[in-house]
Amino acid sequence: MAKAFETLCARWRDMSDLRYAEAVLGWDQQTYMPAKGNDARSRQMALLTSLAHEKLVAKDLGTLLERLLDDASLDEESRAAVREAKRDRDRAVKLPTALVRELSETAGKAHVIWVEARAKRDFALYAPILEKLVELKRREAEAIGYEGTPYDTLLDQYEPGASVKTLDPVLMKTRDIVVEMVRAIARSSRHPRTDILTRRFPPAKQEKLGLDVLTRMGFDFQSGRLDLTVHPFTTNFDVNDVRITTHYEPYWLPAGLFSIIHEGGHALYEMGLPAAWAGTPLGEARSLGIHESQSRFWENTIGRSLPFWRHAFPLAQKLFPKSLGDISLDEFHFAINAVTPSFIRIEADEITYNLHILVRYEVEKALFVDKLPVADAPALWNDLMRRYLGITPAHDADGILQDVHWSFGGFGYFPTYLLGNLYAAQWRAALRKEVPDMDARVARGELLFIKEWLNRKIHQYGRRYSSTELCTRVSGEPLNPLHFKRYLHERFDALYGLKG
Ligand code: ZN
Repeated sequence: MAKAFETLCARWRDMSDLRYAEAVLGWDQQTYMPAKGNDARSRQMALLTSLAHEKLVAKDLGTLLERLLDDASLDEESRAAVREAKRDRDRAVKLPTALVRELSETAGKAHVIWVEARAKRDFALYAPILEKLVELKRREAEAIGYEGTPYDTLLDQYEPGASVKTLDPVLMKTRDIVVEMVRAIARSSRHPRTDILTRRFPPAKQEKLGLDVLTRMGFDFQSGRLDLTVHPFTTNFDVNDVRITTHYEPYWLPAGLFSIIHEGGHALYEMGLPAAWAGTPLGEARSLGIHESQSRFWENTIGRSLPFWRHAFPLAQKLFPKSLGDISLDEFHFAINAVTPSFIRIEADEITYNLHILVRYEVEKALFVDKLPVADAPALWNDLMRRYLGITPAHDADGILQDVHWSFGGFGYFPTYLLGNLYAAQWRAALRKEVPDMDARVARGELLFIKEWLNRKIHQYGRRYSSTELCTRVSGEPLNPLHFKRYLHERFDALYGLKG
């Protein structure tokens, strides 16, 4: 039987290599490929995707998995690998080929229409194809099956185990915590000087600062690279080949630096996955929510903290003497933690960001659970923005048309961003308990101990445990938004002079 398990792993490694080869092409497409290469590149990537898919749905792989499921001689890790393999395969097998093709064709068209509708600020242009996408995703949910609502199947794709029933209580508690915090901050008479971040910051020096932080975080440049793209991202082809990208703005310091720290957090997760299980179902990240907990932990919890800047600010002042020479550490720290309700999710601060996600969660739930007509979605969006953030977009490009996700059928994706924030706060509480002098160490510029802690507590397990099991193992309890509440109060009460 051990031989059958070996066969499963070998076949999975072939499949992973096809997917990684496709990812290399995708990375090149976004970094160095000349524009005219796009048609050939899309064709080549589609071929690799379909080859990997054929291997996944192959009948004899199903037979092999059935045999392994009944194999009592397998150890716990191997059983987890079989469980994850079956999960992936079941999803793929249940989807009719015709539906997959229709979805991918519709998504291709939807992207073009979305770009145009956003430029023209015209939701009516987008509505018919969005309606079609919702219908196709509903059919996808029916094909895969669900216990509660069709939306559960979509959530589960990105965050295994998530459902409306499990998410609702967590998200509603988070909403109340965040709304209260935003209102308290709005009443504060203290305001950060964010204009100091719009001074001149030459990209070459921003890169120097970014590389210094990445190195201290433990990013291994023998196993990774940093390149430039319009939209920063992370991709990986092996634990020893992880790519991140960033984008420098000469007159806005946070864009480049915090995206480097954010993507660096994603990269450390990929580099820290169990090498012995590389290419097998266990050798992958647990979920998007856990992935995002790594990037946001580094970007916000560590990267925007006062201890971090006690060490990094003098370095930044040396690199940018004209722009930061006359600024104090406290002024700088307040500026990078400014909280202001705004319309665009990707530009939002760490606190209001969560409300942007909750707006999308409510709208997606309305579309898939309550069968809200797509034509009525903008009104719901604007109403939620007003209730949660106190502002109403003047047009849909600043509202429901701003994100790309729905155009590729990515319904259920957004909540993972928020879950990442909640998990990050919970990791922080657990780390503090184990390393009480954490702040003092970070203030000395030490960051490696954090990476090693994350390696040990989270990365090395890959997909062995569910998100909830992992969370309980790390922190002693399942996801609990009160850790996020405590974290927000610790940082923002002091900055904005709030009474905790
Ligand atoms: Zn991210």
